[in-house]
Amino acid sequence: MPEFAELRERMVQRQIEARGITDPAILDAFREVPREAFVSADYASAAYEDHPLPIEARQTISQPYIVALMIAAAGIKPGDKVLEVGAGSGYAAAVMSRIVREVIGIERQHDLVEVARERLKRLGYDNVRIVEGDGTRGCPSEAPFDAILAAASGSHIPKPLLGELAPGGRLVMPIGDPGWAQELVKVTKLPDGRITQESLGGVRFVPLIGEEGWSER
Ligand code: SAM
Repeated sequence: MPEFAELRERMVQRQIEARGITDPAILDAFREVPREAFVSADYASAAYEDHPLPIEARQTISQPYIVALMIAAAGIKPGDKVLEVGAGSGYAAAVMSRIVREVIGIERQHDLVEVARERLKRLGYDNVRIVEGDGTRGCPSEAPFDAILAAASGSHIPKPLLGELAPGGRLVMPIGDPGWAQELVKVTKLPDGRITQESLGGVRFVPLIGEEGWSER
């Protein structure tokens, strides 16, 4: 069995770089974060496979390539403050924290919040904070954000998130019914406040549950 460092390098090259994401800052961030530390011991040996994996509370840690695609689409850069809605295991937040100034991850499942906070502290990611709550309502105490990424699929783009984007800010999130086809969309708030939207293709995510999302089934 190859070492984790070797598996991680292979993941970066074959799953991310080979699919067209070549920004060195993004590739280096994925090289730095030990994905095996963000899943339970049962799944550590599968941590660098090309698909999502189960985490606590019947949720998932997303496929590495999809995390990279969303990060690239959001165009995050060193001085940015980023909000991740659906922080889950904390992995994507940790990866982004290697690129930007500060990451706030919001997560509705208490058990995941506890585990992610403990893990990020243990690993020394001190520019990431995990907040417990419904991310469809945004995170007013921490706004504005230069970029917002949502790792769960909504019924629509929550208005509070649009309101919390800084001028020039980007929001990337999947939209669509959890059981059906979902579309990854990118919204940009132009410096004059106007909003533009583009489609980045089909994806599959767990549901975004909350006041401006789906209701719990
Ligand atoms: N980015 C995560 C990672 O790196 O592990 C994966 C997140 S998982 C695909 C989606 C997460 O969104 C789940 O943990 C779920 O509990 C959370 N979620 C769903 N609706 C939410 C909401 N309204 N506010 C905050 N978190 C939410």
